[in-house]
Amino acid sequence: MREGIHPTYHQATVTCNCGNTFVTGSTKNEIHVEVCSKCHPFYTGQQKAASARGRIDKFNRKYGMNENK
Ligand SMILES: [Zn+2]
Repeated sequence: MREGIHPTYHQATVTCNCGNTFVTGSTKNEIHVEVCSKCHPFYTGQQKAASARGRIDKFNRKYGMNENK
């Protein structure tokens, strides 16, 4: 792995469809998401769709929120 090729990370404001906002590290200044840890069925206990697991895994990888597992 070469040094010096990583993008600059800084604080990004994530805005969810539910109105919740939180801050995470990202290469972008602002991020808009459809679901967050406040409203996603995986966290609220109202999981309905089988696809939810794949979506939350993707979400966790993207935003590094695995601590809620
Ligand atoms: Zn939300």
